[in-house]
Amino acid sequence: MADSEMHAEAASEVIDWLGGQQAEMQALLQRIVDIDSGSRQEAGVTAVAEVLHGHLQAAGIAVTLHAVPGYGVCLDALVPGAGDGAPILLMGHMDTVFPAGTAARRPFRVENGLAYGPGVADMKSGLVMNVFVAEALARCGGNALPVRLFFSCDEEIGSAATRERIMDVARGARAVFNAEPGRVSGNLVTGRKGSMVVEFEVEGVAAHAGVNHAQGASAIDALARKILALHALTDAGQGITTNVGCVKGGIVPNMVAPHAQAELDVRFTADTDIDALVGQIRAIIEAESLPRTTGRITDMRRTRPMTRTPADLLALYQRGAQQLGFSVEGEFTGGAADSGLTSSVGTPTLCGTGPVGGHAHTVREYCELATFVPRAQAVALAILALR
Ligand SMILES: [Zn+2]
Repeated sequence: MADSEMHAEAASEVIDWLGGQQAEMQALLQRIVDIDSGSRQEAGVTAVAEVLHGHLQAAGIAVTLHAVPGYGVCLDALVPGAGDGAPILLMGHMDTVFPAGTAARRPFRVENGLAYGPGVADMKSGLVMNVFVAEALARCGGNALPVRLFFSCDEEIGSAATRERIMDVARGARAVFNAEPGRVSGNLVTGRKGSMVVEFEVEGVAAHAGVNHAQGASAIDALARKILALHALTDAGQGITTNVGCVKGGIVPNMVAPHAQAELDVRFTADTDIDALVGQIRAIIEAESLPRTTGRITDMRRTRPMTRTPADLLALYQRGAQQLGFSVEGEFTGGAADSGLTSSVGTPTLCGTGPVGGHAHTVREYCELATFVPRAQAVALAILALR
């Protein structure tokens, strides 16, 4: 048989099998949505991994769980390919933004074809989709390259505990499909902004606001000037935004404030000169914006921007989708994700491959169940076509 005939046969077998899995996918989704797995809920995250582990193992797929103390585990599974080329990485995160008790309060439910529940779109449906894609390939074969599943456990809090591991896994991969929810439009994510949180504090000089006003140096006044200067760094054309989202300061109204603190959120793109931007932010915070006041940065956390998906990887996915009867485009988004880590090591990365969903991080979060099967089929076709 010619190579292309074998490919077509494997593809139709995989597509057919996935086509019959809607109910099974939904059942697995319900099981893991009904387990609370907020970031740092070690037992809950581990319980989600164990359910997925059991499912994969029953399909004959080898799974390893790597302990991440304080966070849970990372799930790592491999479906061998016909050759021993670099694996294709199907990525996801098992943590959600929701506190313990949420699943009991508003468990998984379905209404008019939409599934609701904590993490249903971001990104438990994506985890389930990836698990079924792996199972389809393990059952039907036809994938030239091995397929590796890697599900992390602290994405929603910036991936500090797993970022080195994620970058290591991505370094050896041929391509990455990250199953964050598909956009409301159905589109994929082909670029993401990076984000940074800067915590800082300002010290002034306390004084009685009535008796010794002139002897005081208000930390709140100094902070207000810094906020205006930081907000002036926003440059929509360059994709840079700055937002001081929380402030605290002062003690009582009749005292010139000796202390104030704030947290700044910064978004930027892969083209931003981040060192220069950090330099500007530091200069504003450390400047004596009012005589006898000082400012200093107390913490800085950063997630990387996702560099553009290579056109050929997007086109490959689009060809498969076309074959299945739907069309998708790539979109740029301001939200950060682990696809920033995988693209930063130079591995072609496509994000937002999960089922379509919306209102992530809110009680209205939903997943469009009808997109489960076609999105799984499209990822499978892309895997079968990759060399
Ligand atoms: Zn997510």
